Amino acid sequence: MLKGWLEALLALIFPQRCPACRQWADSYGWCQACLGRLAKATQVALSIHNLTALDECQAVVDYSGPVRRLIRDMKFRRITRHAERLGRLIDYAVAPGYYEGIDAVVPVPLHADRLRERGFNQTTLIFKPWANRQGLNWLEALERTRETAPQWELSLKERRKNSKGAFAVTRPELISGKSILLVDDILTSGITMNECATVLKQAGAVKVQGLALASGAR
Ligand SMILES: [Zn+2]
Repeated sequence: MLKGWLEALLALIFPQRCPACRQWADSYGWCQACLGRLAKATQVALSIHNLTALDECQAVVDYSGPVRRLIRDMKFRRITRHAERLGRLIDYAVAPGYYEGIDAVVPVPLHADRLRERGFNQTTLIFKPWANRQGLNWLEALERTRETAPQWELSLKERRKNSKGAFAVTRPELISGKSILLVDDILTSGITMNECATVLKQAGAVKVQGLALASGAR
């Protein structure tokens, strides 16, 4: 509580600087030039990557430079306040109403042990406020049934094996017959998202679109 007040007060006295160029930032936490340069939604080529369970997938920014730094700070140094600034990239890149007709936004989950250790799922901190701003229903309907090695440490073949059967739907009654938007912080090969989409389709989802904040991590 006190920390929240202090941060609000500090932001008033010391306006934010853009994390990419250090110029004064606007209310999105970025300067207009960098926001326009960085936040560009791009479609993931599903057929090239054999992501057959997804109906569509896009990513908002490249996983590089300041975005990479902010995400890593969140995950490994627990600097959760970066979530707001990262979430604003999604507002900027995705046209309002683009996901009209979606029944629920479902985050890719962390394993329960990882969640306990970190204290939060960064994907939830980034995407849940965005979903609220868009008037979209947030639904935590997946679980990671076993701990998997970080995807970036593995080869493509290992990644497929690593993700296979690692997810389950916890609320199938809320998924059946629904159109789902699956969200994740980083898209590597897309295999994780495709595995999640597979179990959602098995639970009766009629359509699964994917939206990642950042893509291109290696
Ligand atoms: Zn800038």
